[in-house]
Formats: sequence, C-alpha cells, structure tokens
Amino acid sequence: MKDDNTVDMIKLMRQLFPICRSITGNGVRETFKILREVVPLQVIEVPTGTQAFDWTVPKEWNIKDAYIKNSKGEKIVDFKKSNLHVVSYSTPVNEKISLSELKQKLCTYPELPDAIPYMTSYYKENWGFCISHRQYEQLKEDTYEVFIDSSLEDGHLTYGEYIIPGKTKDEVLVTCYICHPSMCNDSLSGVVVVAKLAHTLMKKFSDKPRYTYRFLFVPETIGAITWLSKNKENVQHISHGIVVTCIGDKQQLTYKRSRRGNAAIDKIMEKVLKDENVPHAVVDFFPNGSDERQFCSPGFNLPVGSLMRTAYGKYLEYHSSADDFSIISEKSLEGAVDVLLKTVEAIEINRIYVNCNPYCEPNLGKRNLYPTMGAGKKKSTQLEAIKWTLNFSDGQHDVVDIAIRSGLSIFDIAAVIPLLVDAGLLRVA
Ligand code: ZN
Repeated sequence: MKDDNTVDMIKLMRQLFPICRSITGNGVRETFKILREVVPLQVIEVPTGTQAFDWTVPKEWNIKDAYIKNSKGEKIVDFKKSNLHVVSYSTPVNEKISLSELKQKLCTYPELPDAIPYMTSYYKENWGFCISHRQYEQLKEDTYEVFIDSSLEDGHLTYGEYIIPGKTKDEVLVTCYICHPSMCNDSLSGVVVVAKLAHTLMKKFSDKPRYTYRFLFVPETIGAITWLSKNKENVQHISHGIVVTCIGDKQQLTYKRSRRGNAAIDKIMEKVLKDENVPHAVVDFFPNGSDERQFCSPGFNLPVGSLMRTAYGKYLEYHSSADDFSIISEKSLEGAVDVLLKTVEAIEINRIYVNCNPYCEPNLGKRNLYPTMGAGKKKSTQLEAIKWTLNFSDGQHDVVDIAIRSGLSIFDIAAVIPLLVDAGLLRVA
C-alpha cells in the first residue's frame, strides 16, 4: 500500500476505467489489486452456486476478446477499443451471420446516437453487441463474422471489505459497487469517493473511533444480497449506513433518505449538508436505485441512506460510453468526500447528554461561562449554544436534535459540550 497522505481520485479513476468489470470475474479482482494500493481491503471470494436469500451466486464470467468483422475481414466493432461493445455476461460465439441476424444481436441508444450503450444479461444466457446508433444506421448487407472469446463457468463472486475497528461494535457502513465496466459517474465515482474516505479515516483515527467503520466494495445487487446473507446475524450493529453512487457529475448533491425516513443518519446528513451550505436536495426513499434496495428491504429495514449527485437514470449519459471523464469533475468528487468526512465527525460526536442542574438556569457568570460586555459574535453564538444545550439536554434530545432545533450548527453545539461537562453542568446520558 502507498503511504501518500492524499488520494488523487481522478488518477485512481483513470487506472480503474479501462478494466472490463462485471458482477464476477477477473476485472473485479484487478480492480481490487489497484484499490488495495489505497485501502487494505480484504478480498472475499464466494463460490458459484452459493445460496443468498432468493438468489444464487452466478457462474463467473471472463472475457479475452470480441469483435465483429465484415466480409472484407475489417473489424467494425472491437472489444479492445471499448469493453462496452459486448453485452456483459455474453456467452462465447464464433459464427458468420447475415445483417438481419446481426441486427437482432445489436443494442443501440437512438436518443444518444454517438454513444455505445451498456447492457447486461446476467441471468439469461445470451450474447450480444452494443454499438452507436450512428454506426447501426450505416450497416450494409453483408456477411458478418461475430466472435466473442468469453467463458461462463463455475468460479466465484468477489467482493472487498475494509474495517476500521471502533471502541464499540456499533457500525457505520459505507458501500459502493464495483461491477460496472468503463464508465465514470455510475459506479466508479462512488468507488473512488469511498476509497478516499476510507483512506482518510484510516490515517485520521490514530486512536480508535467510537464507531466501527465498515467499507464495502461489492458488485451491485447480487453482491449486497450475498453480503447480507453472510452477515445476517451481525446487521443489528449497523447504526448508520450510506450507499455512495453517481457522485462525480457537476450537479448538486442529493441525499436519499433511508426507508425509515427518520433514522439518525437521515437527520445527520440533512443537517450536515445544511450546516456546510452545500447546495443539495433531499428525497424520500423509493424502492429502485442502488444497494439501499437490499439494505432497506422490509426484513432488514436498516438505517441506510444514499448520497449521490444526479441519480442513476436521470442523466442522459447514464449507462453508456458518454458517461466518461467529460461529465465528472474533481471538485465534485472532493466536495462529496468533504461532506462524508463532516458526516463522520457528526456521527462520532452525536450523543444524548443530561443537564445536571435542571431546576432553573444555572448561574453561568459564576462559572465564567457568561460572556463579558462587548463580547463578539463568536461569544454570542457560544452563549446561544450553551442555553440550547442546557435546556434540551433532558435525556431525550441528542446533539444533532439540539442543533436542528436551535438553528445553530452541529459543531457550534459540540463546541460548548466540553465546557459544560468540565463545569459539572452536563454529563453523558
Ligand atoms: Zn448502473
């Protein structure tokens, strides 16, 4: 592992981008080899055929090459130029076919005529190619040679996990998915943001944090389902969770609430976004999307929300070769990491305290907690925070509740807590 203090997310994305990933296979392993330079991930291999709730770990898919040649022997579609050209999980093929037969095996996006679509056929054995609609329209009557050198065999589903042990077993779960091939915003933006967050926290927590932090890098859907089925007995330790997806584009952040809608992570994320003056939207849970679909399935109903910018399916370039470096920005990625770091800070300090002197206001002056005449704005914010904290530390409201109620920031409230604890006016509930 490298010892650099910072992770260059764009550089990391450039390393990961060319790899042909899918929900299983060597592309995922190669991805972990690169990610392990940044985060000391444990790589877990789950055999084909393993039962995971209503699902079964599929056969492992690998691909070496693929192309379409015309009758002159010219490669008109080449997997080596873009791995999106082959429908993910395509079975091997080596045939000569007519134009009309070929057309049945081609996918295009007419609404994005220059882009190569991203298509998959994980659970139905099939093969196909994806090309730009522009190219599709120019195809002539001919005999075409279609060739896919792939394998679909018993093997493994591979996922990565990194844990920062805390003082308690209560967990903060941060997840992303590593199953998409060459696209930037969908999948890879989440991967590099979570990798940088994990790397930064690993360096930052010289002492054990209060919570245990678990970072998951899984193939979307089947990976989250497999992880949940292997960890069913331990999920009650998950106190807060965030699925990070589509977070590199140039639009504002969107926080999608957990299915509960009122979980601590929901109020913490919303308050952090507000406190940090980050342009953002908040939306309620809905049952499509990314892996929150599994974490928030009714049997689990875990306190897991999702942070993104423009949601999957809501941007034109989604699931195509146009989801490339031109639509993402380093500033967007860095901004997301900053918000997540603040969220972690807020999670760590959020507790319920109790006012030890609840009958009338305590005399702040005799404890040197009352600002003297002519005190500046900072002091008046401090006094506000003291008053709100003392009044609402009744064993019911935590730090974030008091911040929301007062309109002060979480960190304004947090700043007065040690003063009040030292003065004997406050204790942990
Ligand atoms: Zn996707």
